[in-house]
Amino acid sequence: MIGRIHSYESLGALDGPGLRYVVFMQGCPLSCGCCHNPDTSTFEGGEEITPHELYATVEKYRPYFGTEGGITASGGEPLCQAEFLSEVFSLCRDGGITTCLDTSGYMLSETVEKLLDLTDTVLLDIKYSCDEDYVKYTGMSYSAVIDFLKVLDKKGINTVLRRVIIPGLNDKPEDSECLVELSQKYSCVKKVELLPFKKFCTEKYERLGIPFPFAHIPEPDPEAVKKEEARISELIKIS
Ligand code: SF4
Repeated sequence: MIGRIHSYESLGALDGPGLRYVVFMQGCPLSCGCCHNPDTSTFEGGEEITPHELYATVEKYRPYFGTEGGITASGGEPLCQAEFLSEVFSLCRDGGITTCLDTSGYMLSETVEKLLDLTDTVLLDIKYSCDEDYVKYTGMSYSAVIDFLKVLDKKGINTVLRRVIIPGLNDKPEDSECLVELSQKYSCVKKVELLPFKKFCTEKYERLGIPFPFAHIPEPDPEAVKKEEARISELIKIS
């Protein structure tokens, strides 16, 4: 079994609990207008690696993980390499290293469910609040991500709902309301994280010679995003 990896971040502090070894998987079937990793979209290329080779690298960072940290599989879309990641996560479980998936939740299958059974935390992107926007700006449906969330809830997997805030597209009061409702409805949701849309990926698009679909959209005020995240967190806590 071979995995295709785009890149690594040895000690990421923003991709799950504690300090984490973040593996960016190669390949993603979606076409999000806000994507800041357009170079991970192709399923070609990337570094080929076996589960044992990847685990051996992760293992080296164990002293930095503490009780919370571990491995995070991000992308690209990690679900597209679920079989490979199941082997890696299984080795991590046996070795006492926690596992985290950063995903769009776009697909479910037996293989994906097996991977979820080996996953401690899921960072689930809830990109928009309705089917129309989901289909228009990502290529997947809103109902697919909700079906994925239902499975996380059934399995009782710690879930963080994440949203990149894109001015004019998903920053309306009803968008926040949607995140609050989902958190209240599904008890697996432990936290909501809002991240400001950033355009530092513009250079990547230029290098790849492809248009950045959201180049015309301004970045939001990061302080306002942080404030809204705090407001939502407070609502979830007191509900
Ligand atoms: S799911 Fe992530 S990697 Fe895939 S296109 Fe969307 S933002 Fe990019």
